[in-house]
Amino acid sequence: MSTRRHFLKQGAALALIPLVPAVSLTTQAAAKVPLDDPAAKALRYVEDATLASRADKMGVAAADQVCQNCRFYVTDDASAAWAPCQLFQNRLVAGPGWCAGWVPKS
Ligand code: SF4
Repeated sequence: MSTRRHFLKQGAALALIPLVPAVSLTTQAAAKVPLDDPAAKALRYVEDATLASRADKMGVAAADQVCQNCRFYVTDDASAAWAPCQLFQNRLVAGPGWCAGWVPKS
């Protein structure tokens, strides 16, 4: 009887081991770019593009420039609220956000 109990305890403990790294990686992948990040400040990143002072660029009106239509916004879902930005080491930026590195999707 004690062998069966021991076996079940070991099995339960072992079942949790693969979850620890997965949870950790998920948290790292979901890191948002902090607004006080030095690179974010340098590029004037904001989570709401309407708060940014933008200028027309590459034939796109300033008011139409948001992360969701930027070349560096990496997602298959163009309307995603958050997605990795290649300019910020694939940390998450806000879809309606903007920074001075904005380039239109080709
Ligand atoms: S590079 Fe593009 S996607 Fe990244 S923060 Fe700037 S505007 Fe947004």
